[in-house]
Amino acid sequence: MSLIVMKFGGSSVGDAERMKRVAGRIAEVSAQGHKCVVVVSAMGDTTDDLIDLSKQICTITPPAREMDMLLTTGEQVSVALLSMAIQSLGQKAVSFTGWQAGMYTEAVHGKARITDIQPERVLKALDAGNVVIVAGFQGMTEEGEITTLGRGGSDTTAVALAAAIQADVCEIFTDVDGVYSTDPRVVKVARKLNEISYDEMLELANLGAAVLHPRAVEYAKNYNVPLVVRSSFNHNPGTNVKEEAAMEQGIVVRGIAYDKNVARISILGVEEKPGQLAKVFTALAKEQIDVDIIVQSGTRDGQADFSFTVSLGDKEKALQVIEGIRGAVGFREVTSEENLVKVSIVGAGMVSTPGVAAKMFEVISDLGISINMVSTSEIKTSCVIDNNRLNEVVQALHTAYGLDTDKAAFVGGPSERR
Ligand code: ADP
Ligand code: ASP
Ligand code: MG
Repeated sequence: MSLIVMKFGGSSVGDAERMKRVAGRIAEVSAQGHKCVVVVSAMGDTTDDLIDLSKQICTITPPAREMDMLLTTGEQVSVALLSMAIQSLGQKAVSFTGWQAGMYTEAVHGKARITDIQPERVLKALDAGNVVIVAGFQGMTEEGEITTLGRGGSDTTAVALAAAIQADVCEIFTDVDGVYSTDPRVVKVARKLNEISYDEMLELANLGAAVLHPRAVEYAKNYNVPLVVRSSFNHNPGTNVKEEAAMEQGIVVRGIAYDKNVARISILGVEEKPGQLAKVFTALAKEQIDVDIIVQSGTRDGQADFSFTVSLGDKEKALQVIEGIRGAVGFREVTSEENLVKVSIVGAGMVSTPGVAAKMFEVISDLGISINMVSTSEIKTSCVIDNNRLNEVVQALHTAYGLDTDKAAFVGGPSERR
């Protein structure tokens, strides 16, 4: 008998029929004698729909606290319905919100980190023979305020809970068969990976691969949680995410990710004096704005240009912060750009293989596309480019690094969502 955490994403429970199918699958596992904790996301596009609704109602930037109050309702609907569906099959089940399940977070709205998990109530309900169903993506601060973990955060609820209750495995059920060499909805001949290392998966997730929330991978790595990504629409084996993963001979790039959530801000004509970069980035950090790629141009006439990227959602706030320090820094103008995408290649073998990044630049330039920014680390290279030819670039890189299979990727779930 094992203790299993199973997580079902939004498209897996998109309507009543799918919810019932998921309930059947859970009841099957539970009937085999396993103890099951289930984490579930909001149904289908519920979270997006709630965000749209807030925009229709609110003429100011929606207050972050109220957004969390609103968005957490989506998961609450799912847990209640899933519990009813499982009970209808004659199996004991109980649903909990994040706070009932003891998920504590820092006091940040919209992208809070989990600070503590007190799973006693979950364990007690399990011991009483229940399937325990926990709302993903939500938690509570020590002061009793409701928070969310960031888009896609139900994965993190599942893995963190699996670590806290020392589950034997955490299975992430989604609408594709596992982790692929790139998004199988963009490249039809993407290959499904039987296994991938925590480090490579962490890079891919951080660089935009939506299939797993980055913090979920961080938890899995730190607590050594055996993690499996698989389809909720079939019984195919899926992808094991683990400490070390074998690499096929001759392949150095494990996967390709892209992130459309990129804005570039340029501060032009910055007065040259020590400490200028520190002033800008300390001010941004104070406002919790994550800065990604930073480029400083050489100085001309005692002035330099800084460019950096932030997520689209942080762009306006970042521009306000920069305006706020105009006097202290001294610069000519600030510009910003959207319609960009960051494309990245990831592979643990890159560190010891020369020429991998060079090939990326060559493939992109052969398509006649200019590269706006570059960043590299031991196991990844990223290029920021205009977003209008993204699919072509990802496909060309996929082919160039020998990742194409001769079979079109089987995508188990619905594609109408995209
Ligand atoms: P869920 O609702 O189950 O959480 P998500 O939409 O968050 O599902 O994540 C699954 C999606 O991630 C897939 O439908 C796929 O389009 C996308 N994706 C992006 N990169 C990858 C990748 N490398 N492997 C598999 N799926 C990927
Ligand atoms: N429902 C939330 C979202 O759409 C959390 C999740 O699905 O993981 O981002
Ligand atoms: Mg997701």
